[in-house]
Amino acid sequence: MTSSADSVASTVDPVRGQIVDAARRLAAQGLVIGTTGNVSARIAGRVWITPTRTPYAALRPDDLAGVEVASGRRLSAATPSMELPLHLAVYRTRSDVRAVVHTHSPHATAWSFLDRPLAPTTEDLTYHGLGPVETCAGGPPGTQALATSVGRALRSEHAVLVAGHGVVAVGDTVELAVARAAAVEHVAQIAWLLRHEALPAVHRQR
Ligand SMILES: [Zn+2]
Repeated sequence: MTSSADSVASTVDPVRGQIVDAARRLAAQGLVIGTTGNVSARIAGRVWITPTRTPYAALRPDDLAGVEVASGRRLSAATPSMELPLHLAVYRTRSDVRAVVHTHSPHATAWSFLDRPLAPTTEDLTYHGLGPVETCAGGPPGTQALATSVGRALRSEHAVLVAGHGVVAVGDTVELAVARAAAVEHVAQIAWLLRHEALPAVHRQR
């Protein structure tokens, strides 16, 4: 017999594998260090997210934490990332989003302190469906205030800088969310290198 529960089960494992692969790639690319940053994906009303304080190199699909999107009810023994509220806020706001990536990648995070848009300098942002990346208000890590700010900022965008904190990028696949987070970091790095030279006025020091 095929039921909706069966179809969910058949898709959970591949997606959990994608989350683990993504987390390891983020670490390998220097977009996250140690146990910082987090990755999640949604399947049929449930979110699977990287657990708190587990090094990505040791992470396995069975270690991911499962949570119901609507209720926040936990579906597994693993303790979710402390930024679970941020991920849930995005999923509750955006029915099209299937994956959320949060990093503290260095150049983009540094740019988040400037409170000015990260404008496209190369095709990397537009290639990934991103316009100028705005900065939204931050808040203490793990708080509902931070989650609400990010959820509001991503109502119509696919990436945002969180003031004094980092990057949140979304997509309809884990792959795309990771690519967007990487593109934001790449363009931020270029912006810093050019900041005093040939950039548009928006990137020059005031
Ligand atoms: Zn963070």
